[in-house]
This record gives sequence, C-alpha cells and structure tokens, in this order.
Amino acid sequence: MFQAYLATFPWDVADDRLHAFLDPLQGELGLSGVAAWVASAPLIQCRASADAPSMVYSSGGLLFEYQSCRYSELPIQPAGARDVHVPDRWLSRLREACGRRGLHVRGVLSASRMGGLVERAPSAATQNLYGIASRQAVCPLNPAVQECLRTIVAELSDRFALESLLITDLFCGWVEAYSPLLEPARLDRSIARAFLARCFCPACCRGAAEANVDVEAARSAARDTLADLVGESRDGAAGQGISNAIGVPLAEFDTWRGAAYRALLQRLSNEAGGRVLVDIRDWTLSISPQAITPADGRVGLAFPLVEAGTKPASDRSESPPNEVLVEDNWLTLDRVEPLVRALAEAAERGAIGATFHAIGPLTTSATTAIRRAVRFARRVNTA
Ligand SMILES: [Zn+2]
Repeated sequence: MFQAYLATFPWDVADDRLHAFLDPLQGELGLSGVAAWVASAPLIQCRASADAPSMVYSSGGLLFEYQSCRYSELPIQPAGARDVHVPDRWLSRLREACGRRGLHVRGVLSASRMGGLVERAPSAATQNLYGIASRQAVCPLNPAVQECLRTIVAELSDRFALESLLITDLFCGWVEAYSPLLEPARLDRSIARAFLARCFCPACCRGAAEANVDVEAARSAARDTLADLVGESRDGAAGQGISNAIGVPLAEFDTWRGAAYRALLQRLSNEAGGRVLVDIRDWTLSISPQAITPADGRVGLAFPLVEAGTKPASDRSESPPNEVLVEDNWLTLDRVEPLVRALAEAAERGAIGATFHAIGPLTTSATTAIRRAVRFARRVNTA
C-alpha cells in the first residue's frame, strides 16, 4: 500500500496535544505514520495556532532525548537544540502512542546542516573549489562527521526502533552556492551554482587522492568550467552536456564522491535497521542516483513532488523504489486538485510513498488535500 507520513516537530505534540494530533492521522487521514524531526537544520516557522508557539526560530540541532554519553568520545559531538522547547521524552511517548495505534514512526534527520555541527567543528565544514569554507554545512564525507551521524542513527535504532529514516541535506556541499545573497543574480538556476557547491574540503581531497584521483587537476578543471559558466551565464539546458566536457580528473573525482556517498549510506542503513530514504532536493548534478544507492534495496530516494505533466528532475526509470516530498505550499485550498493529480502521477511512475511537510496544526484545507491525495495515490499504486 502507498505509504503516507505527516512530518511533525516536538512542539506539535506537547503532552496534552499528542492524542489530539494522532487521532485524525489514523482515522480521518488514513496515514501510515508520523515523520518525526529528530535533528534539524536552523529553522524559522510562522505557525497558525493559539495554544502552540506561533513563531519558532531555532538554530536547530538534536530534537530528541539523546544520551550525551554516547557522543562524549567522538571528535565531533552533536548539540541539542537549545532555543526551542522540546517536551520531555517526546520521542519515547510518540513511539509508544504510535505503537499502540499501529502507526509507524519515521525519523527525519538533517545531515550536513544539522544545527550546531559547523559551529562546533568548523574544520569539518564543506569547502568550495576556491578553498572557502562553508559557515552552514559540514561535509558528510568527512570521517568524523560520518561517525557523528552513525552514532545518532545507532541511538535512534537502539532506543526507538524507528521503522524508517529520512535523511535531508546530504548533498548540499558548499551550501552558500544556493544563497540568494550570491551575486551575480543571473547565476540563479544556473549549473554554475552546482559547480560552486561541489565540495573540495580537505577530507574529500584526501579521500579522492587515496583513490588515485588527481585532485589538483580536478580542481583546476572545475575552476576553468566555472569561469566559463559564469562568463557565459549558461543556463541548465545549455549545460546538459557539461559532464561530458569536464575532463577525466574531475569525472574521476565525481566517481569517487559517488562511491563515498554509497559507502556512507550503506553504513547508515546497516545501523538504522529499517529503510533509509535520502531527500534529493539538494541533489548534485555530478552524481547519479545509481551511483549512491547501495544494491541491497534498503536505501530509497525521496524526490520533491512536481506538478502533474511536468518532466521529473531526472530520469528515474533506473531508480530504486522512491517516495515523494510534499511541501507545505501544496496544502492550500486552491491546490487540492493539482495535488491529487500530481501525487497520483507520482504513484503511477512508481513512487511508493509520500511525506507531507505541513507546518503547524493541520488546517481544514490541508486535511482535505492530504486525505484526497492519499486516497487517489493508493488507487493507482496498489502494490
Ligand atoms: Zn567534503
């Protein structure tokens, strides 16, 4: 059956609101479970609610009752989100309440943008091809970052037995490449940004060099191509063939990165116990889905939902079973029918599930939209 999850933050389900939150999920909406944010990037939320916080502004971090002793020996230790109220034992209580109802719990984890990581470990930050370090993201291909992520996933598996895990912010690299502050503005939507986002941090360079990649030749090729792209401001369509023109060293560097991501996902899925999904909103053009997906089928990809009739961002015919991510801006009254059509089309293409990222209490229109969209997707995808 087509799986459907509703994302939730700790402050959505404070003690007195847990059952009121879960009741409609199971009854009215017929969802499979809850996608609980367990580690977030910095966030700012404006929420329509009288009894919950109406504004959340957080630097992010771990959002569950973690055991700090598990992390005390690690070179990079995660931090709990300090500027938001995380109700006591909320994940344990959510797990118990969902278990009694037959609802699954999916964890949602920001990898490289998790709050607190880059501040605590600036030396693990991603770096662009000019050697400029990110102030927002650590590199998930850095062994110390991987050990931190692995330990978090192990704790989630040991103590909460989550059915699945959705990993976000895995590929963002030098994330400032996508900042609206980056000038010239004409770079917007250009593949120049993807070039600028490719990580050349010391850990990536060391790992690639150990695999006999000529890293300095790769960096030089990337600089030449980027200069060309910025100069000509070529758009994405014009740059379609760019991967064929980048030269051997850069192609080998990307091949190494694909293999390193696959090894990381293999480790994390071994630790998670359940299914692992990777959010590919920040997908880098230089790596294919096949390159990062372990062959055992336990890692799936989560694509942003696109309008019905729109060509998907990449050819997914060879992709493993995937799911879609439905952002909050789909959940308005005027988009109910487009959402129903888009989700049905995604299910036709083979999507086996969806995660709805509603912010704040569900409105009547969001409830209607989710209920109808899930019902239609299940008619299409009956597997
Ligand atoms: Zn790196």
